Amino acid sequence: MTATALLVVDVQNDFVEGGSLAVAGGTAVAADIVDFIDRSRADYALIVGSRDWHTPDSDNGGHFALTGAPDFAGTWPVHCVAGTPGAEYAHPELSQRLTHQVRKGMDEPAYSMFQGVAVDSGQSLTTLLRAADVEAVDVVGIATDYCVRATALDAARSGLCTRVLLPLTAGVAPESTRAAVDELIDAGVEVVR
Ligand SMILES: [Zn+2]
Repeated sequence: MTATALLVVDVQNDFVEGGSLAVAGGTAVAADIVDFIDRSRADYALIVGSRDWHTPDSDNGGHFALTGAPDFAGTWPVHCVAGTPGAEYAHPELSQRLTHQVRKGMDEPAYSMFQGVAVDSGQSLTTLLRAADVEAVDVVGIATDYCVRATALDAARSGLCTRVLLPLTAGVAPESTRAAVDELIDAGVEVVR
């Protein structure tokens, strides 16, 4: 039987309602992901959660618009600064449901979970997945059109059988979310609606 991992991308306070880079529907998605894990735990060899974990007092490689207005495509309001409430998980019970946690975005823009490193071991996500003989991943989280997109594209490129569970994601904007879904399908990702 193929081992499958669930990748829970950036379900963090700054990406849900009330956060500095709030995505509409994020809070509901956070709760739905926790419920989904409770129903589906047996289906997954690993459940890996990522957090955007940016460096304080830095523009993080041009990722933060510290002067002038962000363009919400390549520059963003300050978000998910390491150790701040905005960087915490957006559901109080999520962290205890994860088997592994990775952090990404330390002093750089990092949209894909594959750019992250494990909090405890410092291993890459690829190393974690290989160690568990994972050949398939399901991707959920925030935001559909940015970090979920980038994570799923990297997963497919690395040869993993990749699905995005669309109802368990939230997108920044409808147009870019539609474009991301088309791009994912073109890349061979199964988009489950
Ligand atoms: Zn970021």
